[in-house]
Amino acid sequence: MNVDLSRLMATEEKPGDYVGSDGLLYCGKCHTPKQMWLSFDPSTGGKKQTLVHTACKCQKEAREAERERAEHERFLQDMARRREDGISCPDGLR
Ligand SMILES: [Zn+2]
Repeated sequence: MNVDLSRLMATEEKPGDYVGSDGLLYCGKCHTPKQMWLSFDPSTGGKKQTLVHTACKCQKEAREAERERAEHERFLQDMARRREDGISCPDGLR
């Protein structure tokens, strides 16, 4: 198994982000944490409190919107394909 730990551990800090009173990095846009504590260290597997990256609310929403957009695109492509099939096979329309 090849897990990209550096990507998991690294938290992308955007302009406007700030560190809250709990020491976590907060998103300056949606004000939810972009980091969370794990009760173990993923790089060693040992019991050690480790700060890892997590998606804040607006990142999750952006991901969700992207997923819906991709799904809609698939739907349109599917419709276009069906129309093409109808043209290449006109008997099916009768
Ligand atoms: Zn956010």
